[in-house]
Amino acid sequence: MAPSVLLETISSNDGASTTSTRIAATATAPATVPPESRSQERRLMHRSLTESPYEVISASGSYLHLSTGALILDGCGGAAVAIIGHGNEEVMAATVAQMQKVSYVHTLSYTTSSAEDLANFILEVSPGGFQHGLEKAYFCGSGSEANDAALKLARQYFYEKGEPQRKFFVSRAQSYHGNSVASMSVSSNLPRKVPYQDILMRNVSFVSPAYAYQYQRSGETEQEYVARLIAELDAEFQRIGPENVISFIAEPVVGATSGCVAAPKGYFAGVRKLCDKYGILLHLDEIMCGMGRTGTYFAFEQENVLPDIVTIGKGLGGGYAPVAAVLMSSKIVDTLRAGSAAFNHGQTYQAHPVTCATALAVQKIVRRESLVQRCALMGMLLSKLLMDTFSGCKFVGDIRGRGLFWAIEFVRDKTTKETFSTSCHFGYNFQQNAFKLGLAVYPGAGTVDGVRGDHVIIAPPFTTSVVDLGKMVALLKEAYVQEETRLDLS
Ligand SMILES: *Cc1c(COP(=O)(O)O)cnc(C)c1O
Repeated sequence: MAPSVLLETISSNDGASTTSTRIAATATAPATVPPESRSQERRLMHRSLTESPYEVISASGSYLHLSTGALILDGCGGAAVAIIGHGNEEVMAATVAQMQKVSYVHTLSYTTSSAEDLANFILEVSPGGFQHGLEKAYFCGSGSEANDAALKLARQYFYEKGEPQRKFFVSRAQSYHGNSVASMSVSSNLPRKVPYQDILMRNVSFVSPAYAYQYQRSGETEQEYVARLIAELDAEFQRIGPENVISFIAEPVVGATSGCVAAPKGYFAGVRKLCDKYGILLHLDEIMCGMGRTGTYFAFEQENVLPDIVTIGKGLGGGYAPVAAVLMSSKIVDTLRAGSAAFNHGQTYQAHPVTCATALAVQKIVRRESLVQRCALMGMLLSKLLMDTFSGCKFVGDIRGRGLFWAIEFVRDKTTKETFSTSCHFGYNFQQNAFKLGLAVYPGAGTVDGVRGDHVIIAPPFTTSVVDLGKMVALLKEAYVQEETRLDLS
């Protein structure tokens, strides 16, 4: 493989890299594979048929070791997944121990202590702790599945409540909820959706994102901006008929699509009030921003609202197991209890004994070592380092985030917030520069509206050190300077 092609292969080793860039890269690749490489072709279906990702031969703590010999500092844990870093022995031991006890049973007839304990553990409220009002957990294998299950749960809730006319979902532009047909239908991550538009669910509509940097008008106060967004949501509910809406779906802090965008103050409280007015369910997707990532266990704790349904994923298993969950409030469970007394949904691998044991081990470490608090503290350091290092940079438009979940949004012009042309691939190039310097970060394009904009996400493990954070920001700066210099010369 030519070195230039190899360099293109650098991926953020996660669920969701920049599809638009990849499509562009694919389009310029040779149409046929030379015979010798075809015979050597590997059978695994990669994201690209022309680019092959790096092979990771081992991973430990904050570092990935590649087969090329390179050592990569993991500044993003894939897609904000690896919350306790890599290679944790305690998690491995718990996984093996569960495999030795019971590796699989079907949930139609059986349960296991690992699944029961995980549900109890993650929903346990410590004395004086945050009262989240969530009663039960349903475990599955991915965030997309969790959101699918959540959409069905919300629909079943109204079906049993005697409101079967409710069949519409309202979501937001610049959001991501998954790659299955249903979860993609409520997502608006455009590059990932384009080929499928015509086969997606039609009972979904979208309102504006709560994204102050790009969409709050000049001269508009935060309060006025929130009022405008809530009025828009109300108008959308009215257009559909509020009695026909099942749920409103939102990420408390938007992840991959726009890069760590928290809503303006008061937005979620306003959303909650509006949903309550019409009996519409509030489904918060915390698959990326939850499990401590923003410095609180749930991201919504910082919004003063209680959701009806929450989906979690990435950080739940910390990358050690493919596991995600739907968390449901007592209101939902009570309605099912009074009705069919069942959740009309199920999967072969739901509440899998081994993945649950693995996730439980991860979550026990997080609690025992106070890693959520550590995440909040280290997050303060990371934010200060990022602000100090990047505030004055001419292409850095916004630096935002919470906890250890931070993004830099790049713009061509800081005054007008004009974005780079899409052919410039600023974020992607930046990520590649960083990777060549030995740092993995998570890039994104289409930040502003699915087409325009560039950002990069920094999401180190909660176990990260002061030294690692310093190193990360220094490498980020170097990667940035390389890209700025390249543009100044071109
Ligand atoms: C990653 C993600 C999903 C999808 O999870 P998968 O495990 O990739 O299916 C859904 N919602 C959000 C907010 C995510 O970040």
